[in-house]
Amino acid sequence: MRKKIVAGNWKMNKTLGDSEELTLEIMEGVHIESPIVVILAPPTPFLHRVKALAFEHKAIKVSAQNCHEKESGAFTGEISVEMLRSLYTDYAIIGHSERRQYYNENDATLQLKIKTLTKWGIRAIYCCGEPLEIREENQQYEYVLDQIRTALFNLTAEEMANVTIAYEPVWAIGTGKTATAEQAEEMHKFIRTTIEGKFGKELADNLSIIYGGSCNPSNAEELFAQNNIDGGLIGGASLKAREFLAIIEAARTNL
Ligand code: PEP
Repeated sequence: MRKKIVAGNWKMNKTLGDSEELTLEIMEGVHIESPIVVILAPPTPFLHRVKALAFEHKAIKVSAQNCHEKESGAFTGEISVEMLRSLYTDYAIIGHSERRQYYNENDATLQLKIKTLTKWGIRAIYCCGEPLEIREENQQYEYVLDQIRTALFNLTAEEMANVTIAYEPVWAIGTGKTATAEQAEEMHKFIRTTIEGKFGKELADNLSIIYGGSCNPSNAEELFAQNNIDGGLIGGASLKAREFLAIIEAARTNL
């Protein structure tokens, strides 16, 4: 059975104190035996503290918001996967549209990041999704296929099994504009079929594909009720415990 996941991407928000407070509030609201995998992605300097607080909580995992593809070296300001491993990081979000847009992250590099993450035992949350102009031209399937082909098709089966895919239409991120449940489901189904074609049915059936883009307590339930939507990657609504917990509850009711 594939995992149901609700991940909160805090981006460049929260101080250390805020991060501790939010983590404790979320821990209090999530049952230790929760069947939903809850992932917290705080800013890098607070990863270790958030993990320490949540260490004993079986359902809560922590994620980095990025990592470097190389093992180590002269890359000022970067963080390596081995460093993340030493902080007990469970996941790393890679290829977020903000990193693609502002830091020229591309799919060829993302493939390398997945390989390095797999080597160090950290799961990759690989983000893909089309910008607005592509959706308006109805080219979203070709666009996402191209991203997936470049980033994922040359992985080994072991590396691919280490990936969770987050479909995040860029036009829906932080805009309050959500993809309809039908639009999201269609794309998730397309992604699963594409992965099945390349890596086989068993791997595709076990692949968690989560949705991101203005997901909130009022639309989460309908999105998560779709066959191919296995949870969400949440930005804005993950910064408030009450909203984030309501989204986790929406995932739980749709198990
Ligand atoms: C995101 O940045 O991954 C995201 C989904 O943001 P938001 O929920 O704010 O649209």
